[in-house]
Amino acid sequence: MWEVLVNKLKEVFQNADAIIVGAGAGLSSSAGYDFGGERLQKYFGDFVEKYGMKDMYTGCFADFETNEERWAYWSRWAWINRYEPIPKDTHKKLLKLLEGKDYFVLTTNIDHAFQRAGFSKEHLCYTQGDFGLFQCSKPCHTDTYDNYATLQKMVREEKNMSVPTELIPHCPRCGREMDFNLFWDDTFIRDKGWHIAHKRYTDYIEQHKNGKVLYLELGVGFNSPGVIKIPFWNMAAENPDAVFASVNLTLPCYPEILEHRSIVIQDDIDHVIENLI
Ligand SMILES: [Zn+2]
Repeated sequence: MWEVLVNKLKEVFQNADAIIVGAGAGLSSSAGYDFGGERLQKYFGDFVEKYGMKDMYTGCFADFETNEERWAYWSRWAWINRYEPIPKDTHKKLLKLLEGKDYFVLTTNIDHAFQRAGFSKEHLCYTQGDFGLFQCSKPCHTDTYDNYATLQKMVREEKNMSVPTELIPHCPRCGREMDFNLFWDDTFIRDKGWHIAHKRYTDYIEQHKNGKVLYLELGVGFNSPGVIKIPFWNMAAENPDAVFASVNLTLPCYPEILEHRSIVIQDDIDHVIENLI
């Protein structure tokens, strides 16, 4: 059954006029970004012992004793998941698979992994921020700031789960503390780059409403279905020549209306991509 589905997806992939990829958290975890288990222990054993966090992401919202400790956690979290090499070459394999195709990628992932794997921004739209960027925590303006140098210093100078106070970043305009440019509440800033990327995406889907379009979901769960899942279902439903495909370790699914035009594979994305190349 697995082989039949992968071969079917391969065939649709090869014959598609356009491939629109929607990438969610499952793709990042397939590429080795596991936020729990051994990796959590390896990088955050000290914090886990003190605060008992169950995964790296929710750990960000722990009730840290001091601000310096909070930034020690945050900088370590962002550094290992955003700047250190991606654990596996899943994104590179995907890029190889898409080579020579007409394609576009929409992602909710914040790890910049597509760009780091060599995807050109002309093919990309990232919707929920990037933890490689800072913004004003109570946005007084809409610029974002590269945080590589600041985080590198924090990670290097962290001692006893605490960063030096003077490294905590402040807004150059209003002096408030900075925050990551992440869609974790309504203070999220959509900067110039965000708007340009969204225009690229809306132009692309507008130009590919018809024809053999493959809507390919990779690791998209139900956390924010309004960004990828539901729009993909709707667009596929409106185009009788389109196919919807979903690859995910957990709960890949399709709506009834797409029953005869869906391919759903419950498996590790990295493994499936390897078999599609
Ligand atoms: Zn400000």
